[in-house]
Amino acid sequence: MDYKKLARENILSIEPYVPGKSIDEIKELYHLTEVIKMASNENPIGPSQKAREAIVDYLSKIHLYPISDAPYLRRVLSEKLGINTDEIIFGNGSDDLIEILLLTFLKNGEHTLTISPTFSEYFLMTKVVGGECRFVPLEKDFTYNFDRLSTSVNEHTKIIFLSNPNNPTGTYFNSSDFIRFMENVPSDKIVVLDEAYAEYVEAEDFPKSFHLRKRFNNLVIMRTFSKAYGLAGLRVGYAVAEKDIISLMNKVRQPFNVNSLAQVAACAAIGDESHLEKVFKMNLEGKYYLYRAFDRMKLDYIKSQANFMLVNVGDGLKVSEELLRNGIIVRYMGQQLREYIRVTVGTMEENEVFIKKLEKIIGEIV
Ligand code: PMP
Repeated sequence: MDYKKLARENILSIEPYVPGKSIDEIKELYHLTEVIKMASNENPIGPSQKAREAIVDYLSKIHLYPISDAPYLRRVLSEKLGINTDEIIFGNGSDDLIEILLLTFLKNGEHTLTISPTFSEYFLMTKVVGGECRFVPLEKDFTYNFDRLSTSVNEHTKIIFLSNPNNPTGTYFNSSDFIRFMENVPSDKIVVLDEAYAEYVEAEDFPKSFHLRKRFNNLVIMRTFSKAYGLAGLRVGYAVAEKDIISLMNKVRQPFNVNSLAQVAACAAIGDESHLEKVFKMNLEGKYYLYRAFDRMKLDYIKSQANFMLVNVGDGLKVSEELLRNGIIVRYMGQQLREYIRVTVGTMEENEVFIKKLEKIIGEIV
């Protein structure tokens, strides 16, 4: 039987998401004892001690289903953000929320719009639900061109995905450019502000999205506990939007999409602001350390508002493979960014090892 004939046509051309390799896989592949992962924009010191304790405390209850609508996490988060509890939906990571939003709103013949390069899930999930994703290229310096984005919106556009800061470039757009864009976008277009890395941002003109949410009813903000909160393995993210949007999305959401350990961990993590502050500072120090090292090595890099950055190493594939053999996992971003690698800021020790190995590899290649 040719099962391709049975499959839904729109999924046939999809290339599945290629995740970065894990530490254990690389250890086994290259017979290494020490491997550093700076590839997936994870927080290298993990979650707050309070979150770890909450997870351990909850282990005796994992035979029970999670509470479907995460009421405790919802209350804690709504208080922190100053947002009503019915304006929040939780997802099994923000990946889940992207899928839920598309399943809720994207109808036949409508398309999504995003920028390029950006986070691949917008395109992949649009394809999965049977739609088309259109792209507006970033400028040469990887900044947004809102004029082009605005003129690309037409009557068939339904959802506009904007990653801010953008993955994989680390670049961002400021509040006034975004407000101008929002004022021009018809209110029947849903604009997703994917702020997965917002907790790392140092720019003062970064949009105050939760304020703007109250002004623009078609705005959906997505955030995650996978990055600065260090809970990527537990899978929990959230979206904030107008309550009618949330209640429609709740029709599509699987009832137990956020597991109970993720719920208790996220709740505890929100309560530990000092850990978040520590993560922010560590990232800032690491980021500037890497900038200085790249300057010294005369490598061009893209200034980032997130916990990763693109650095031009000439041949991204070759350098990332050499780094792998040397026990460092970074991300090669494919043909479109073939001169670059994307590196996640690590602990200072990891950053130093990375720079030492990179210097050696670049020296050998040149
Ligand atoms: N949005 C962006 C921009 C991302 O980079 C990522 C993770 N790579 C996600 C969303 C998804 O994060 P998660 O599903 O872990 O919440």
